[in-house]
Amino acid sequence: MDTAPQIPVVLCLSGHDPTGGAGLQADVEAVAAQGAHALGVITALTVQDTVDVRRVVPVAVAQMAEQLDVLLADCRIDAIKIGLVGDAAQVALIRTAIERCAVPAVLDPVLRAGGGSRLAGDATTQALLDELLPRVTVATPNAAEARRLAPGHSDLDACAAELLSRGCRNLLVTGGDEPTADVVNSWHRPGAAPQRFVWPRRPGGFHGAGCTLAAALAARLAHGEALARALRHAQAYVQASLDHPLRIGRGRAIPRRSGHA
Ligand code: PLP
Repeated sequence: MDTAPQIPVVLCLSGHDPTGGAGLQADVEAVAAQGAHALGVITALTVQDTVDVRRVVPVAVAQMAEQLDVLLADCRIDAIKIGLVGDAAQVALIRTAIERCAVPAVLDPVLRAGGGSRLAGDATTQALLDELLPRVTVATPNAAEARRLAPGHSDLDACAAELLSRGCRNLLVTGGDEPTADVVNSWHRPGAAPQRFVWPRRPGGFHGAGCTLAAALAARLAHGEALARALRHAQAYVQASLDHPLRIGRGRAIPRRSGHA
């Protein structure tokens, strides 16, 4: 008899960050910490350190397509997490994967690294807006990403309203990159007032906090949690991972994604 336990499975489409602070490694660690298993399809290789990203090298769409076909034929998938998209050509494939799986999907629209470098060009950003944003369960832009996705507004609630009007079902706009004393994250959905989550700001910037949040959220949804509960749990997990950060280079510290409560 097969007694191997089944745990929720999260399909992660993410870039590879060789520091291990962000990207697929962040996803694997954050998903595992929620008691789920990550499948990893790499969208891009990067050259980066803990200070900034130097280069993004997209993976060929045909190779990703082959990997997805094989995984989708073999594995039960309970949620999808989308991080860095390598180029605009990958977007149609990712859209098809969301439609084929028909499970909760979390989009972290990775547009710019914390160190300041652009990670997505205008064509990719437009494709994310048109093709992915209306098809995911929730998107988790930080403040700078929300403003880039909805240019013309500097007020974050106005950005969120525009993104909802473009068909996005739920947005968690994170405020770690805002100059506020506390970190304020806002959950926006149509027909409801924004819900604020206020977290004490930990000193210093972090590398990989956004990936950690989106991956933990996808894992919570993979467990079957309702979105409101999953949002609370994933943010509390990120906060705990920032309480005892790891310093692995001369740039920003990275979240400690395991070994805490
Ligand atoms: N590299 C990859 C592959 C990422 O996915 C991300 C963010 O999601 C980054 C770098 C940048 O991370 P951060 O802005 O936290 O430094």
